Amino acid sequence: MLDYQTLLISLGVSALCLLLTLFGTWMARRRDGFLLTWVIGLAFMVPGIFTYSLYAEYPNRFIGVVCTSLMLCGFSTIYAGAVQFRLDVSPWRRAAWAALAINAFTIPTMLSGYDGLAFICLNLGCAGLLFATAWHYWQARSESLVSLAGMAALYALTGISFLLCASVLIHDGHMVLGYAPTNWAENFNIAISIAGMTGVGAMSLMVHQSRITEHHRRESLTDALTGLSNRRALFEAHQTQMFSHEMAVMVFDLDRFKSINDQYGHAMGDRVICLFAEELKTAMGVNTVARLGGEEFAAVVRNAAPGYAEWVAERIRRNFAERETEVDGQRLRATVSAGIAYGHGAGSSFDSILNAADGALYLAKRNGRNRVERAPEPLHAEGGSLRSSA
Ligand code: GH3
Ligand code: MG
Ligand code: MG
Repeated sequence: MLDYQTLLISLGVSALCLLLTLFGTWMARRRDGFLLTWVIGLAFMVPGIFTYSLYAEYPNRFIGVVCTSLMLCGFSTIYAGAVQFRLDVSPWRRAAWAALAINAFTIPTMLSGYDGLAFICLNLGCAGLLFATAWHYWQARSESLVSLAGMAALYALTGISFLLCASVLIHDGHMVLGYAPTNWAENFNIAISIAGMTGVGAMSLMVHQSRITEHHRRESLTDALTGLSNRRALFEAHQTQMFSHEMAVMVFDLDRFKSINDQYGHAMGDRVICLFAEELKTAMGVNTVARLGGEEFAAVVRNAAPGYAEWVAERIRRNFAERETEVDGQRLRATVSAGIAYGHGAGSSFDSILNAADGALYLAKRNGRNRVERAPEPLHAEGGSLRSSA
């Protein structure tokens, strides 16, 4: 059977390994600040565990103060890391307050010789911090159900084991011990801590991996210049949908955009694209907006009464035409043309409605630009491309 010291050393070593793994992960992706917070939490825990192992051999009150403070700083930082993970807020003030508040009880009691009382405070403090940590991961579980609910369960279980340690000490009533507490709850606590550390380590990496995957997925659906959805996102959202007569697709194309690029430069062209994206983003009445590519955009309107989509597109066109951009003291105004198509009959496919809206856009260009055109009703239920009829 393994003795208590060996178990403590295994716990310290597994915490050190987790620290190194998380540090390596943070080095590869520094924008995830919560990883560094977890690392700093472990950087307190590792010496805290080894000092506690020293205290178990030499129960000196100064060693006791060092190990209890390090452990409380570690658990406070780990708790603050959970808050940072969930709410993306700076963790340091929270960590400092939690560590200070609990150390304010444990340090004086340990120094005045009431080590039993100090260990009760330590165990209760750790349990509270672990429950709070578990609560934050539980609250964030929708992001990655298995790993975050698993982390919450492991933190809560470790919290219970600290609570049991405090309960046994309270039950025994020894406020002065003169040695590190040894009882069944301490053995249970160390076994749970080893299992918890390993499980939490693996799940933390899983959660981090799923955040990276989600980040890449979002990036692949977002247009880098304007921040709008891109063509792929638009098709993913609507391709399988049937469009009724209450749904419409609008397609926009900036007018004579090549000459803007030629006259003012590509950077200015980009600014005009962003300006129109801003107009579209803030427009009332549109549900999904996307940049299809170049200076072409699309928007989907749901619950559109007859004529509503034309009214919305007309407002967008007019507002954009009134916007001005300054370049080298010169004022630049750009215009946009739009084509609109509604669904019909039992429902039309997205592809056919987008094609029809594209046909109407072609008509708007042919009729002089800076205008909105609506696609004619098709003669048969499921319309094909109207470009040929425009
Ligand atoms: P029209 O009124 O018929 O639409 O004329 P147009 O000049 O706008 O013609 P077209 O739509 O074919 O021109 C698109 C131009 O947009 C061609 C390309 O150089 C430019 N373009 C495409 N993507 C970008 C981009 O990301 N930034 C900038 N600045 N220009 C782009
Ligand atoms: Mg174009
Ligand atoms: Mg154009």
